[in-house]
Amino acid sequence: MAVIDRFSFEGLEGLRVGRFNIGINTSFIVYRLDGTVIDTGSTNQWRYVKAYLQEKPLEQLILTHHHEDHAGNTGSITELTGIKAVAPELTVEKIRHSFKTPLLQKIIWGSPRKADADVLPDDFQLSNGEQVTAIHTPGHAQDMTCYLLPERGWLFSADLYLANKLKILRADENIPEILKSIERVLEYDFDIICCPHRGIVHDGATKLKEKHDYIVNIAGDAQKLREEGLPVKQIALKLLGKEDLFAKLSGYNFSRRNLIASCLDVEF
Ligand SMILES: [Zn+2]
Repeated sequence: MAVIDRFSFEGLEGLRVGRFNIGINTSFIVYRLDGTVIDTGSTNQWRYVKAYLQEKPLEQLILTHHHEDHAGNTGSITELTGIKAVAPELTVEKIRHSFKTPLLQKIIWGSPRKADADVLPDDFQLSNGEQVTAIHTPGHAQDMTCYLLPERGWLFSADLYLANKLKILRADENIPEILKSIERVLEYDFDIICCPHRGIVHDGATKLKEKHDYIVNIAGDAQKLREEGLPVKQIALKLLGKEDLFAKLSGYNFSRRNLIASCLDVEF
């Protein structure tokens, strides 16, 4: 499995690549708008991303965060095109050094390569001159930043959306911060979410609000059960069902119990 899909939406191109196509989280869409590419795809998909990039001149590469599916090919793209990425300051720091990823992620995405990038300027525009609003949205990753194109009402959402119902959480994710980040993004006007895993999502602000409210509900229910004395694993089973194979294979790095544990930290 490699190039899974190719599509366009109002001038935005998307190339979905991935070694596996099991659910949305094992494949990745590299978006291109005119001369700008947002995020890089993973290293094990490089030859497909490379062919896509060679179709037209690259003028700008923007990164949302350091994770290997989003930034893994940064160095290869710079070598190929001479274009250095722009990224949030924390992302620049993270990708400057190589970092290890767990085995399951290595199997799905390959290992990320270290790379140099420049820090986002304060007044930030696409290479076509369109204004961009960078919105810092930690919680999934400390450096994660979403990019809003206010004139179009489009949000490049990094991993903030993914689905309107969240079932599992990575051990290093933080639900209270994710909720705050969603609230921050919802202060802006947008209708379309460009999600690198889900694709183009219409009624994006509504869908993101649904995700927010769903998490708040789970958090409320989880805290009630906790007060009744139930342990985290039992609460997860009751509210979200059994852990899946992915959870087991990841050593519960991606799991329902992580979601519940972090929901217990939400303040009401
Ligand atoms: Zn990520």
